[in-house]
Amino acid sequence: MLKGNRSIELRIAQINERVAAAKAQNLYMYIQPAEKVSGSRVVIEGKEMLQFSSYSYLDLLGHPKIEAAAKAAIDEFGTGTHGVRNLAGTTTLHVELEKTIAEFKGTDDAMAFSSGFMCNSSTIAALVGRNDIVISDKLNHASIVDGCLLSRAKFVRVEHDNMESLEKALAKVPENKSRLVIADAVFSMDGDILNLPEVVRLCNKYHALLMIDEAHSLGVLGETGHGIEEHFGMENVIDVKMGTLSKTIPSVGGYIAGNEELITYLKFSARGWIFSAALPPATVAASKAAFDVILEEPERITQLRRNVDYFLNRLKECGFNTLNSQTPVIPVIVGDDERAWLMSRIVQDNGIFILPIMPPVVPHKMSRLRVNVMSGHTMEDLDYTVNVLEKAGKEVGILK
Ligand SMILES: *Cc1c(COP(=O)(O)O)cnc(C)c1O
Repeated sequence: MLKGNRSIELRIAQINERVAAAKAQNLYMYIQPAEKVSGSRVVIEGKEMLQFSSYSYLDLLGHPKIEAAAKAAIDEFGTGTHGVRNLAGTTTLHVELEKTIAEFKGTDDAMAFSSGFMCNSSTIAALVGRNDIVISDKLNHASIVDGCLLSRAKFVRVEHDNMESLEKALAKVPENKSRLVIADAVFSMDGDILNLPEVVRLCNKYHALLMIDEAHSLGVLGETGHGIEEHFGMENVIDVKMGTLSKTIPSVGGYIAGNEELITYLKFSARGWIFSAALPPATVAASKAAFDVILEEPERITQLRRNVDYFLNRLKECGFNTLNSQTPVIPVIVGDDERAWLMSRIVQDNGIFILPIMPPVVPHKMSRLRVNVMSGHTMEDLDYTVNVLEKAGKEVGILK
């Protein structure tokens, strides 16, 4: 079928075999279509399940104010933009959203890309080039890795959240080379928080530009959800502030917030901005309204914090390994793939929607269930889920 393209055929066959094997054992559980998504509940194949896989950390999906803004945007501007941002694709809604993001992040300016993935890959590729050095934490998101590769800068990967490894890499950079340090604020598979104070100190010492990805920290970290700087009581120590509009914000897109010169530069050099259509009006209006709701309803953040602390403590009491998670991204380490499939099956059969994460997304023998806590989970939801996880953990043999 592929006309003798052996290596491509092999690659395709390997994935297909893995999927087929999982399906044959009734252990395949990716891409299950939700029939209804409502707060901490999701309906799949007619069965209502507890939602523990969503990024809707503050339960903003379905918020009346956000939905009303999206509907009004369609009435005013229609469903698409039919243009890229620099040409016909910018509406007043886009400008309002960017002003809101800049204010929220305490910067001069901001710009919204059509996805977080594209935002990372094209921003990094625009910032560094062939003669520069880019230093990236080993557990950074795939979109950061792709951006580093795309940039053709010298790509240095440092040990995860290891400040000695970072300092060593920085000390090696020749004086005349530009250097960019990049890390997730909250690591997307482990749920731990970057040691920002130390990273900032090292970036200052070695004159490196700092870019931080706040995909999982926006709306989550800091008393008022402003992110990792608020969490550590620091102000404007990050040069390039990246975030997504698809995790806490119930929409889609990615943003860069920073000083005016940086944003102007990116508008004429980030290829994902220049050559891809602008975000649709409803999406933009929903994002803008969601930032307003985060400011107006801070109790959601307090509730999320309470839920995360309670849930993490209970899992640890059971004896689960949750790495260094301190956030609503909670890994329950299982080890090998088969057990992770099996444990997920048991959990899903008990009415809880939790999914397994396998290599190559996480390291070999570090397969896990990734459990996401939301502000809308009740104590009963959390207790029930811990009990089911404990029972399943014993059944697959990772708990005594
Ligand atoms: C999800 C995620 C992205 C990509 O964002 P999308 O808006 O889904 O494209 C980037 N970085 C991190 C750390 C993420 O978790």
